[in-house]
Amino acid sequence: MATAERQARVACPDCGLVQRLPALRRRHSAECGRCGRLLAGPATGKVDAPLALALTALLILIPATIEPLLSVASHGAARTCWLASGISGLWHEGFEPLAVIVGAFCLAFPYLYLAALVAVLAALRLGARAHLGWTFRWIMRLRPWMMLEIFLVGCFVAYSRLRLVVGVDVLPGGWCLMAATAALLLALTQLDERTVWEALPLRSTTPHGRGHISRFGRWDRRKHVRVPGRAIACTACELLVTDAQAGSACPRCGAALYHRKPYAFRITAALVAAGFLLYVPANALPILTLVSFGHEQSNTIITGVLELMHNQLWPLAAIVFLASIVVPLLKLCGLTWMLLATLQRSPRRLVARTRFFRFIDTVGSWSNIDVFVASVLVALLQFGAIAQARAGAGLTAFAAVVILTMFATRTFDARLMWDAPEGE
Ligand SMILES: [Zn+2]
Ligand SMILES: [Zn+2]
Repeated sequence: MATAERQARVACPDCGLVQRLPALRRRHSAECGRCGRLLAGPATGKVDAPLALALTALLILIPATIEPLLSVASHGAARTCWLASGISGLWHEGFEPLAVIVGAFCLAFPYLYLAALVAVLAALRLGARAHLGWTFRWIMRLRPWMMLEIFLVGCFVAYSRLRLVVGVDVLPGGWCLMAATAALLLALTQLDERTVWEALPLRSTTPHGRGHISRFGRWDRRKHVRVPGRAIACTACELLVTDAQAGSACPRCGAALYHRKPYAFRITAALVAAGFLLYVPANALPILTLVSFGHEQSNTIITGVLELMHNQLWPLAAIVFLASIVVPLLKLCGLTWMLLATLQRSPRRLVARTRFFRFIDTVGSWSNIDVFVASVLVALLQFGAIAQARAGAGLTAFAAVVILTMFATRTFDARLMWDAPEGE
């Protein structure tokens, strides 16, 4: 009974509604009855498919790192770019923090994410379960910061811009990067988090002992009745526990259990304010300086988009405009709207606000395209006075805006919007 109930009852991570999850048929999915969040997808029950695809992506990523990605030739001189070239290029230009960020997002995190995912899924397949909860929690936390697919689009934009001035060739590493990214994206469509979580055991060493599964209440000794309590959902693995366990570690993944994320409102407000402040230099200062036959041209984000439009590269101009200008502004204004509505305990447009929150959380990391484009151009365009690319101060401010807003959507607790009108 307890097991059946544990599998059936879920709390929506976005609106907090506790509901029963119906038994799903193949290729069917279940959504939250209140806010429309996907609770169980068509990949439910799959372990072998995501394991095979993640392993393929990891294996192809190795030649994508060792082999060169692109080469450019200009006036008899040639330069080649590897996956790590952008990192060393930014480092030597004096942009050490940016080099670390690009290195983490495009190189370290993809390897870490894929290797850990393969290890967890292979262990599940072999029946080993120890410490998997902790590992899988960190894999899920790492996902938004692992940006292989965004780096690939950045390479496309850089390739299209380079082709206008020099000869560019895609080398074996470039093709491997495309294949590794495709395998990674396919693996993610086949990975169902709930399937992994439900296969993991619960540790019964919590301070409050038994009762984390089905008893959502506490025993009142004086009145000799059970007082209904609130169910708390773990923010990492979504396990439902009684509110008596608030403050202790989740018996499945080890995350700290809280009714709502602590200080979510204040931390998000501070991050959004910092994001607005840095948005001004990010757009006003040049992010990239291009030298062509001794003539210097400084590009801000908007002039970079205008240049793509001027060269008839309309789809790329649209992608960069949306990712670099629209998305950061949408995130800052959207989060401000959500914070103000929560403060005013507004019950209006709750579903729309929650859907919008999910949207900005999903698309947020795509704003990094411009950072990756700059890193590739800085690595490749080094032909002295003939053709050269240098990163500008605006790039650091822009990367800071993107990272701050990504943290802001992580720290915000969308369930606060639903609690506010109820006076909690
Ligand atoms: Zn919901
Ligand atoms: Zn948990």
